[in-house]
Amino acid sequence: MWTGLSHCLWKTLWIRVMALWNVRRRLWNAPSAPPAELGVGGSRPGGRVGVVRRAGAWQDQGVDDPTPEPAPYADGPVAALRRIAFLLERSRAESYKVKAYRSAAQTLLPLGEEVADRVEDGTLTDLPGIGPSTAKVVVAAVQGRVPDRLATLEREVGGPLVEGGERVRAALRGDLHSHSDWSDGGSPIEEMAFTAMELGHDYLVLTDHSPRLTVANGLSVARLTRQLGVVEAVNEHLGDDGFRLLKGIEVDILDDGSLDQTEEMLGRLDVRVASVHSKLAMDPEPMTRRMVAAVHNPFTNVLGHCTGRLVTGNRGKRKQSEFDAEQVFGACLETGTAVEINSRPERRDPPTKLLQLAIDMGCLFSIDSDSHAPGQLDFLAYGCARAEELGLEADRIVNTWPLDRLLEWAKP
Ligand SMILES: [Zn+2]
Ligand SMILES: [Zn+2]
Repeated sequence: MWTGLSHCLWKTLWIRVMALWNVRRRLWNAPSAPPAELGVGGSRPGGRVGVVRRAGAWQDQGVDDPTPEPAPYADGPVAALRRIAFLLERSRAESYKVKAYRSAAQTLLPLGEEVADRVEDGTLTDLPGIGPSTAKVVVAAVQGRVPDRLATLEREVGGPLVEGGERVRAALRGDLHSHSDWSDGGSPIEEMAFTAMELGHDYLVLTDHSPRLTVANGLSVARLTRQLGVVEAVNEHLGDDGFRLLKGIEVDILDDGSLDQTEEMLGRLDVRVASVHSKLAMDPEPMTRRMVAAVHNPFTNVLGHCTGRLVTGNRGKRKQSEFDAEQVFGACLETGTAVEINSRPERRDPPTKLLQLAIDMGCLFSIDSDSHAPGQLDFLAYGCARAEELGLEADRIVNTWPLDRLLEWAKP
């Protein structure tokens, strides 16, 4: 009975999601990522021209003129709200500050013409999720002006995240580590996929957490099974758009080095990132055994944030785990497992000395965003700057590889 009911509910839900999606695709006329020549966000060719250029024009006019004519804006309210959220997320704003813009975009998405009518009637704020500040953005966008909030953000945080790394960034084709709101991420799967596409990725691996990471709402076998259906539906819907959402997991490395998911489920995935999230302060010897065992597991493709350190940010600082790095990276080398360069600014993992060691030993790497929000997909720039500075050649970074090669490599 359960299966029948849940299948039915599931189908209904999907019809709704896909209907929303069709609307979204129509409205989706502005990118999260501005064009490469502006040096912000995705640097792969093919990015669409969007709000940055227009906001830039607005900014130029304003330099000497105290009452500048606002620049025209033609991308519509949903694009404006999404771009604001993207910029806030990539500049690591607290998620509560972003939430209003994401929910407002979600509310407006299916409404079409009704949005303009509501602006006219002044009834925007009657809608759930539209407050005074989001309404201001919507009114400006509907009236064809760059919203003030957007212009300010473009000016203040719209520039490149970091200097250097552009060559490596341009070589990346995708990202092997990302989270959705199915575990501890903040956005739905399709929003992560859309933003990855806008950034010019060919693929994004969805790697929500495994069951035992309950604080991060890790996915049980049943939930992961459902998620795989969603990923398939997303890809079916996208068709041949040159982008693939890949099935993945960030699987916990348990105390004995085994992985926190059934072999059957691990076998159904495209790419698996294995990370230590518990008992980070374990003695070096058992920690080394634990990590080496995990790396030798045939399902492990990427060793995620290997030291677990935190160097900055609101989660506080955390010392790096102690282990015999030569043994652990040696196991990576032997098994063809990629050492992750985790791009999150608060992680910068591995630390430079260890990263240099893994490079010198000849390991493969994966530069990952470990994004928990769409705008954080842009964090890749940080990892690229580190890789380039240490002279890591692009061909040893598995996410510079074309999809076919990546999938072949990731097979257990
Ligand atoms: Zn992790
Ligand atoms: Zn993660």
